[in-house]
Amino acid sequence: MRATGSAKGLPFPLSQSLCVGCSKMKRVDSARGGVFLMCRRAGQDDRFNRYPLQPVISCVGYEESGGDSGGATSDGGGRSGRD
Ligand code: SF4
Repeated sequence: MRATGSAKGLPFPLSQSLCVGCSKMKRVDSARGGVFLMCRRAGQDDRFNRYPLQPVISCVGYEESGGDSGGATSDGGGRSGRD
């Protein structure tokens, strides 16, 4: 798999996921053409799955990316409840 920081061109329902606008998301493109959204909070916080069930509609770990998904690394923030 190849990991990138881009959320452009995501298929439905990934395109509807809260993860798309979250700085903790990393897009992963598989060799078979599949696309996955990886949560970088996983591994640091047991509340998060590396590949959360999509689309995520609410998440306590959400952190606005500021327009460039997969960029920032600071903790804290959040938006509503998860799942
Ligand atoms: S913290 Fe929540 S919104 Fe952000 S990538 Fe992980 S599951 Fe998605």
